[in-house]
Amino acid sequence: MSTENELRDTVILGSGCAGLTAAIYAARSNLKPLVLEGHEPGGQLAITTLVENFPGWPEGVQGPELIENMKKQAVRFGAELRMAHLSKADLTTSPFQLKIGHETILTRTLIIASGASARWLGLPSEQALIGFGVSSCATCDGFFASGKEIAVIGGGDSAMEEALFLTRFASKVTLINRSEHFRASRIMLERAIAHPQIELLHNTVVEECLGVEGKELRGIKLFNKKTGEHSMLPVSFMFLGIGHTPNARAFEGQLDLDADGYIKTQENVFVSILGKRIPGVYACGDVQDRRYRQAITAAGTGCMAALEVERFLEEMGR
Ligand code: NDP
Repeated sequence: MSTENELRDTVILGSGCAGLTAAIYAARSNLKPLVLEGHEPGGQLAITTLVENFPGWPEGVQGPELIENMKKQAVRFGAELRMAHLSKADLTTSPFQLKIGHETILTRTLIIASGASARWLGLPSEQALIGFGVSSCATCDGFFASGKEIAVIGGGDSAMEEALFLTRFASKVTLINRSEHFRASRIMLERAIAHPQIELLHNTVVEECLGVEGKELRGIKLFNKKTGEHSMLPVSFMFLGIGHTPNARAFEGQLDLDADGYIKTQENVFVSILGKRIPGVYACGDVQDRRYRQAITAAGTGCMAALEVERFLEEMGR
């Protein structure tokens, strides 16, 4: 167990694919990395089912199993995993200061692999029914929607992809977009429009999720912003496909973020403030990648971040 104000060679924020890959590499370099697992241990893979595109698994691998194996591999080489999350960081000091509850950890280097989290509508009735018909993960929960009428919220590619995927299970999918126009790419939108099981609604917002709290969703209350009409759509499942939010808020004002809050990186993993690199701090995985967002690309940048840490510490004479 660590003491207060301990000094680390490297701390890794996040325990998804990027963070754990960084941990494996850093641990193998004998840096004894501390991994703060964060609010969503294991990241998005931990709530996924079958991953079929991770190289080396010809039959696919369950997301939680893949993550568990990565954890074991990191721990085997000396990584320390802690169920904790960052409340505040100060990157202006040397070493950097990380606040975890009442504790302060000092570290010579930092790897930010805090990922991105699925967005929710934020309705209290939605929050009360998460896991009981309300889901942000079609791949995890689609199977439970077998033979049911369901709704997918969103108008981007994620929503299209979820809606198309869910037609394998659901008898009918109503795709609900709050705007007049869909943000999705043309090819995805055309596929959804052409699908006989998918119905598309425009200008429509969800006002409330109706159901028995802690039990099941029975329907959703809708409002058409154009016609002013209120209606009720009986569905057993509502899937959110309204994008992701990068978990980088703790670094607002300390790192360059893009308009949507993703950490801007140079040469894959180098972070900056006002365009100037911050030596010793690196970002990897979905918190800095809005383009690819794959397990394998997250792992790739996690590896790069750890190699940069190694190089940086070596240059510091450690
Ligand atoms: P996007 O940001 O592209 O789209 C988000 C959608 O959700 C928009 O329609 C937006 O509506 C809607 N939305 C956001 N917040 C709310 C809210 N509170 N209530 C209701 N609706 C809301 O995110 P995606 O995740 O769809 O896509 C992200 C990126 O990933 C894109 O570049 C996309 O192309 C890519 N992607 C590619 C895929 C593929 O090629 N197979 C699959 C999935 C994603 P509004 O337009 O009104 O803001």
